[in-house]
Amino acid sequence: MFLRQSMRAYRRAAVLEDTKFYADLENEESPLRQMSAELSFPLSEEDKAICTLLRQKLADNADSVGFAAPQLGFNKRIIAVSITEDMVACSEGGVSYFPLTVLINPQLYPRRRSGMEADWEVCFSDRYYTALVSRYRTLTFKAYDEEGKLIRGDATDLLARVLQHETDHLDGIMSKDKAIGYLSLKEVFDIDKLGKDEDYIETPRVIYSPR
Ligand SMILES: [Zn+2]
Repeated sequence: MFLRQSMRAYRRAAVLEDTKFYADLENEESPLRQMSAELSFPLSEEDKAICTLLRQKLADNADSVGFAAPQLGFNKRIIAVSITEDMVACSEGGVSYFPLTVLINPQLYPRRRSGMEADWEVCFSDRYYTALVSRYRTLTFKAYDEEGKLIRGDATDLLARVLQHETDHLDGIMSKDKAIGYLSLKEVFDIDKLGKDEDYIETPRVIYSPR
């Protein structure tokens, strides 16, 4: 997933990206549409290599905040998340630093009382749309690192959103599936509406509604 502020970077990255796993999102055979398998410890050499690949992928895409293994064609329950100091500095709040971390078999426990919030999400695997998605504002997460050590933490705002977005990938769910509205990226790039015109974000033109 990309930061809303990073639309231009997304366009650049999208051009560079290997298009193999770009969604034909209607294709049920796509790794993006499968349930991913839990990993067991100690990790196999293949699983370790996928962790390294995800870590590298995120490090190479400085504007990206998360990747999930199915996006690289592997149906394994591994995600990588990173929120850099630069992103915190460029944000208008709601963004806290989180070091680049690989999370294996992640489990999320939303705090439903803290409510939900809608915001725009750009996904590396959907080069056509940016989706307005309602997510839990706060959650607790549990996962394992590559050595099998338990990682637990609390997440709010952007980090909570990224974790929900990436974990959805492990269940074959794209943000588009949960969208309460979306815009074509072409439209966003052409008119640069997102992030500039807050009124537009409050009342998006819904060009697709699952309901
Ligand atoms: Zn995504």
